[in-house]
Amino acid sequence: MSNRNTLVSRHLTSDGVVVWTRCACGRLRMDLVPTAGAPGLTAGPCPHAHSPSRE
Ligand SMILES: [Zn+2]
Repeated sequence: MSNRNTLVSRHLTSDGVVVWTRCACGRLRMDLVPTAGAPGLTAGPCPHAHSPSRE
């Protein structure tokens, strides 16, 4: 029952909420969740599938 992604930190910026998570493989990943309904942004792509339905 280990979490695949661990929440590292979350910051509210002028562009939206930036969420840093650590993948199960140890890589950091950044997700930007915009406040104005703009498309989100994800950085730090991992070779692993992060979709919850996989593995
Ligand atoms: Zn990974």
